[in-house]
Amino acid sequence: MTERPHLAVVGAGPAGLAGALAAAARGVRVTLLDAAELAGGQFYRQPAAALGARRPQALHHQWRTWERLRDGLDRHIAAGRVTHLTDHHVWCVEGELGDFAVHALRGPAQEEGVSVRADAVLLATGGYERVLPFPGWTLPGVVTAGGAQAMLKGGLVLPGRTAVVAGTGPLLLPVATGLAAAGARVAALVESAGPKTLLRRAPALVAQPDKLAEGAWYGGRLVRHGVRTLPRHTVVEAHGTDRLEAVTVGALDRDGRLRPGRVRSIPCDTLAVGHGMLPHTDLAETLGCTLSGTDVRVDDEQRTDVPGIWAAGETTGIGGAALSLAEGHIAGRSVAARLHGTTPDPRRWAAAARARTRLREFFAVLDTVYAPPADWAGRITDDTVVCRCEEVTAGQVRTAVGTLGAGDLRTVKLLTRAGMGWCQGRMCGPAVAGLTGCPLAPGRRPFARPVPLGVLADLPERETD
Ligand SMILES: Cc1cc2nc3c(=O)[nH]c(=O)nc-3n(C[C@H](O)[C@H](O)[C@H](O)COP(=O)(O)OP(=O)(O)OC[C@H]3O[C@@H](n4cnc5c(N)ncnc54)[C@H](O)[C@@H]3O)c2cc1C
Repeated sequence: MTERPHLAVVGAGPAGLAGALAAAARGVRVTLLDAAELAGGQFYRQPAAALGARRPQALHHQWRTWERLRDGLDRHIAAGRVTHLTDHHVWCVEGELGDFAVHALRGPAQEEGVSVRADAVLLATGGYERVLPFPGWTLPGVVTAGGAQAMLKGGLVLPGRTAVVAGTGPLLLPVATGLAAAGARVAALVESAGPKTLLRRAPALVAQPDKLAEGAWYGGRLVRHGVRTLPRHTVVEAHGTDRLEAVTVGALDRDGRLRPGRVRSIPCDTLAVGHGMLPHTDLAETLGCTLSGTDVRVDDEQRTDVPGIWAAGETTGIGGAALSLAEGHIAGRSVAARLHGTTPDPRRWAAAARARTRLREFFAVLDTVYAPPADWAGRITDDTVVCRCEEVTAGQVRTAVGTLGAGDLRTVKLLTRAGMGWCQGRMCGPAVAGLTGCPLAPGRRPFARPVPLGVLADLPERETD
């Protein structure tokens, strides 16, 4: 191990930033790698400097926390304790405690290979949106809820003039209020969860008053902007010739099934739709870290079961920015102590650990409230494209299972090509799983993203014992 231990942090969102700052403040040299051009991750996504945003805070929550993270990062960079590698897309991490190689593709073209050596690695790669198909979902004008938010926060542009925000999950609230505040007419917020389900969980949710206050604040903003909310409703179909012109939404019964005859059409040019989030686990999987369901499993110090690999934030489970910050902080302190050869004292991060416990409990309850409608897969027509990369329809997937006898996602993929394209099944995986009834299994991909052969060929040989 080098004299001044070296940590590579993958992901400069709330978790990665908190981890990098905590480790750097305790004598660890940190290299922070992120695919984005600016630090902040999804929650604190920043507009490019060239856009000249005068008040970027107008699009954000908890701006003071961001200022603290940003200023801390700047200070550590100036002092030479942190190196921030922007526009670096990490495709693989290999090695062992004291000798890891983090391989990335640099620049927008992602054709130039870069490798960073480190004693330990903190995976803070966040999560991505679960997208479930429905007839018309490939029309221009249909975007993901997070995508609409990213256009607004990162590009300072609205995806359209009249929007419907739909799906399920807490992310719909900032998206609907953000679009409305930026000048879009939000014709409806369509949420498949019902208020009674939320009320039934109220005793467990009141333990987190900050979060409830945040929810109430969003509720007030929706009222102020005149956004009609349609709880226990779902989008049945998106309509349009060359681009989106309207959506049909339908009411759901108590079991989450469409109520016959209870549909209405809403004219709009934008549909921002999302059905919750899933953790990014590719790098952890290639390293052999154990998953717990869809999440990277970590101990109380945020260590995975692979020595030298820590994980924090939404890669370990979806729970919002505050939880990511707490986990990142704990991980950074744990890394620093372990790399200095000492046993960390958890009392030093007791406040963060308490926040972590409360927020994990809160989001575990929310998870039971927000779920896609029960019969979403049954309503996908055979001609609906499910895998956009390979243009595979729901009918082809059904044939693979019903006629050709496929019994797992891998066989469905081999028979139909669903999941063989650029995104390698990250987008269509949950949809194909829902359509076929096969469990969503880890991808078992050797690399986290496609890599040019030239980059692979140029990799130096690793010495083996
Ligand atoms: C599109 C989108 C929009 C969202 N908008 C909001 C919002 O408006 N409000 C809200 O409360 N929550 C929002 N969320 C939820 C948000 O992700 C969390 O609340 C919070 O940002 C999680 O922090 P994190 O540090 O765990 O991950 P993130 O903030 O997601 O940060 C992860 C970082 O890792 C980087 N990364 C991932 N993989 C690699 C790789 N292989 N190589 C290099 N870099 C990599 C990403 O570029 C990203 O910067 C959004 C989520 C998504 C997916």
